Amino acid sequence: DGTFNENDLSRVIAADKANVWHHLIQHKPFEENDPRIIVEGKGMRVWDQNGKEWLDAVSGGVWTVNVGYGREEIAKAVYDQLMKLCYFAQSAGSIPGALFAEKLIGKMPGMSRVYYNNSGSEANEKAFKMVRQIAHKKYGGKKTKILYRDRDYHGSTLAAMSAGGQEERNMQYGPFAPDFVKVPHCMEYRKHELGLEHLSGKEFGIAAANQIEEIILREGPDTVGALCLEPVTAGGGVIEAPEGYWPRVQEICKQYDILLHIDEVVCGVGRTGTWFGYQHYGIQPDFVTMAKGVASGYAAIACLVTTEAVFDMFKDDASDPMNYFRDISTFGGCTAGPAAALVNMQIIEDENLLDNCTAMGARMKSNLEALMEKHQVIGDVRGKGLFIGAELVADRDTKEPVDEKLAQAVVAECGNQNVIIGVTNRSIPGKNNTLCFSPALIVTPEDVDKITDAVDVALTKVF
Ligand code: PLP
Repeated sequence: DGTFNENDLSRVIAADKANVWHHLIQHKPFEENDPRIIVEGKGMRVWDQNGKEWLDAVSGGVWTVNVGYGREEIAKAVYDQLMKLCYFAQSAGSIPGALFAEKLIGKMPGMSRVYYNNSGSEANEKAFKMVRQIAHKKYGGKKTKILYRDRDYHGSTLAAMSAGGQEERNMQYGPFAPDFVKVPHCMEYRKHELGLEHLSGKEFGIAAANQIEEIILREGPDTVGALCLEPVTAGGGVIEAPEGYWPRVQEICKQYDILLHIDEVVCGVGRTGTWFGYQHYGIQPDFVTMAKGVASGYAAIACLVTTEAVFDMFKDDASDPMNYFRDISTFGGCTAGPAAALVNMQIIEDENLLDNCTAMGARMKSNLEALMEKHQVIGDVRGKGLFIGAELVADRDTKEPVDEKLAQAVVAECGNQNVIIGVTNRSIPGKNNTLCFSPALIVTPEDVDKITDAVDVALTKVF
């Protein structure tokens, strides 16, 4: 039940307070109370140090534990693998490394090679490095530019941040790497920011994609190597591109010989109801990166997946000693990652979790849409599968975001009802106003309703 003995408890809390620097938090107010220590998890629920039970609607805080907590079959596969062979760098093969690559490629028609990494940021950086090397090998040092989108996020390391479209995360960390160029977002709810308020639906989608083409023409197509996009923008406010956007993006990339890099770190491995987010839109990327849901957090693993055509470019002239991808990832060789990932994928298949994701995502969206009638503060509900956002606005006409403190109060009120939800946006500093829901793919109708009931109560209390 998550409780543990008093002495252990005070020691853990003292050690946490004295020695841990937590992620993404201002420590001063955080230190006024004891930290929350999550001790145990089972299914959709976790227990803290006081034995309090929480319903987790964010899959481990950052949308990772896709198959839920306490999966003995994954833990056992990891244990068995570690006892057999814990580690050997990937220039030698490993049994789970080979078998997971085969299984993964089986879900990704048109793709053929898996490069193992240990985090989403790293996988993205490796794709950027490949783009740069291709520019030097094939295009005489031109085509080094990488386009990224306003509101998208690709990681916390410096080159990944150079491709980051979220002002809140980037401010004070520059200067950034050269040759990363921003393109506009594609958010229909905020289309007035793009000057496209006169268009809607497919017409808007095509026009938003055409704004990418304008940037390519401005920069010079012979200088642009890749376009990096999230299939559904996650932390930037949960944004699905409207109809018409993706086919036009693919067309533009083909026309200007630009590699299409889809960052599936959040959407990958089931989160949106298909194996990969891009598979909703009938496009064929050149690079796909993934991390969070690959092994549902049971082991660290990230993958950069690419095509045989890209792979070939790095082996076409073996007589040139520099003509290969001169890169390594120390922990991209841990065997626990693919061992966990193999079982994780099998669970999703065996339990039909893609279908459950689609059905439960639709239920959650419609519950939240129903709340819009009662709570004027919800300006928009959007998302795909089990990645859903509800944007809170002070005024439905102006779409002015609510003060972040109010959005945080909603999160806290849900906490008072033992439900953990998130809040995001990260694009306008201090204006995180989009409630965020990404429960595990195993979520039941009862738990979906519990989550949205908690939101209803919280909104009533706060506004
Ligand atoms: N890409 C996206 C879309 C993300 O949301 C994240 C993390 O939240 C990353 C990349 C970075 O992944 P990691 O934190 O594993 O480096």
